[in-house]
Amino acid sequence: MSARFERSGPLTELSSYPQWAQDMVGECDIVKKTVVDHELWTKMCTNEDPTITPRFVVGAWPAIERFPCYMARSLLKTRYGRSEGEDLARRWLVRNIRVEQNHAEYWLNWAEGAGVPREQVMQGQLPPGTQALADWCEEVSSGDSLAASLAAVNYGVEGATGEWSRILYESESFAAQYPESRRRGSLRWLQLHAAYDDEHPWEALEIVCSLMGNAPKAAEVAHVAECIKRTYIAMRILGDRSVRPGFTFQIDEAYDEVAAA
Ligand code: FE
Repeated sequence: MSARFERSGPLTELSSYPQWAQDMVGECDIVKKTVVDHELWTKMCTNEDPTITPRFVVGAWPAIERFPCYMARSLLKTRYGRSEGEDLARRWLVRNIRVEQNHAEYWLNWAEGAGVPREQVMQGQLPPGTQALADWCEEVSSGDSLAASLAAVNYGVEGATGEWSRILYESESFAAQYPESRRRGSLRWLQLHAAYDDEHPWEALEIVCSLMGNAPKAAEVAHVAECIKRTYIAMRILGDRSVRPGFTFQIDEAYDEVAAA
């Protein structure tokens, strides 16, 4: 078997990818499930606590706003003609940074529909801990390999996001929270990211496989898997803090108790 990976089967079928990638995806999916099955999404649909959605739209904003910049950082790592994988990555990133063009604006429209003024999203106090996702994406896209950043950001973030946005977008009780006259505009970001035919995470996986080939070293695979899992964990923290923001406060309280003793 040649070390060079070339996809022969359909883009969106896991069996089209090398065995190491299939195993890696299986291992990471266990962690992704904790994001997609997070209680946050049901709580947003029922709106039982109306402070949750505002916390989420504010907390996720830094990662949303920076998203095309993470891709730009990945693009900076490519050199034309160095490898097929890099050429593929370069072409894909150039095209898809353009696709991200309006997504920050659509996110602000969602926030406004949820009753959060855009100023509050852009300059607001971030719920404690929610910065973890943006920090991690910044770190991996600036300091790690091209394969690692594409895996963590374009495969990891976009893959899980496609799934959770579908939960919200398909929920009638969620849609009903937005006045009908502005519903379409408010939910545009979710509609775009919930699209069933979203091929971005698969395309990212294909590029990662092109970059790494059919027979990468076990340590390289373990590293990329770790990066994908870190993305999911940062997303889960965002979910936790959106549902229950008081964690840091409790640490402070515990500290005060110790100090007083
Ligand atoms: Fe987007």
